[in-house]
Amino acid sequence: MSNASTDFSFGTKAIHAGVEPEPVTGAIMTPIFQTSTYVQPAVGEPRAGSYDYGRTANPTREALEASIAALESGSHGVAFASGLAALEAIVKRLSAGDHVVSEENTYGGTTRMFNHVLSRLGIEFTYVDARDVDAVASAMRPNTKLVHVETPTNPMMKLCDIRALADLAHAHDALLCVDNTFASPFNQRPLELGADFTMHSSTKYVNGHSDVIGGLVAVRDDALADDLFFIRKSSGAVPGPMDCFLTLRGIKTLHVRMMRHNENGQAVAEFLEGHPRVDRVLYPGLASHEQHDLAKSQMGGFTGMVSVDVGTLARTRALTEHLKIFSLAESLGGVESLVNVPALMTHGSVPEDRREAMGITPGLVRFSVGIEDIDDIIADLDRVLSA
Ligand SMILES: *Cc1c(COP(=O)(O)O)cnc(C)c1O
Repeated sequence: MSNASTDFSFGTKAIHAGVEPEPVTGAIMTPIFQTSTYVQPAVGEPRAGSYDYGRTANPTREALEASIAALESGSHGVAFASGLAALEAIVKRLSAGDHVVSEENTYGGTTRMFNHVLSRLGIEFTYVDARDVDAVASAMRPNTKLVHVETPTNPMMKLCDIRALADLAHAHDALLCVDNTFASPFNQRPLELGADFTMHSSTKYVNGHSDVIGGLVAVRDDALADDLFFIRKSSGAVPGPMDCFLTLRGIKTLHVRMMRHNENGQAVAEFLEGHPRVDRVLYPGLASHEQHDLAKSQMGGFTGMVSVDVGTLARTRALTEHLKIFSLAESLGGVESLVNVPALMTHGSVPEDRREAMGITPGLVRFSVGIEDIDDIIADLDRVLSA
């Protein structure tokens, strides 16, 4: 199958896009080109494909980039050493004096990078609840160059209307970046809805096996892709060939894994919603989610991410420390189920007043529901909740 075969449907692209038989041996799997440099045939004449140095070009990385471009309906993919490196490169297109409007409930590390690294370089950030398109509109300034959102957000599972925000950003000559980590490209493709950048911590669903830290961006515009390639080459946050290979391998089952994550996430959300020990369940696939209609219109499935409010830290401990199938850990999106207490773990770096204002209290528990057998998962939760 050729890289250009963009008319195939998602699962076929997940398996084939970007992966061509290796030209020398016909190896069906793109090899791990574990090399830092390439021998040049003549002075100043690198081989075709600008293979002169590993930071600039690597064939394993290029296969991964073609794959994410196809899965996100983009024209180019750009791979980075981590999700934060990917987002940093997007913001580094801006200059001192430029302004970014960001959803307030992003990944904790995103807030830390914006507030403690990029703001020192003269880029300004304003945080808003991006569920409210008017709030985003009021935060726009003449120097706003980028609107950055996550949808669903981590861990409050709030949604942003991607199409409305893309229109708003473009009306102000700004670009829209969507952190699509929580949804995965199987469930949501922001570029199709008008976003300019879609990015992933591929550490999560895209790789899906909890064995790689990585970041991916997809765009539809050649000039934006050139900017990102230039920034990556100049700043250096490249992923290694082995990690690119593992991520490509993970992607081959992305559609199969996501179908199961979606099913298991829905089943866990429904079980917990009916449980007397749980005050509130946040899951876009529940009719009780305040943006359920938006979820149905812009997502194809609702993932394995489920947050619940159990009220107090004591109840949080009782719930999280005695589960057998769910491991207490940061991160998400792998085949194995994980449980996390955002206020004390992933979102510890978010200032407490902002955390509380967003509802990230010590009673909030976030599940990353894996793809184990659902009966075992529910039994594990039931046992601990009934104790
Ligand atoms: C984990 C995560 C990131 C950061 O990605 P790394 O790969 O850990 O650098 C960014 N956004 C979201 C939504 C995440 O979950």
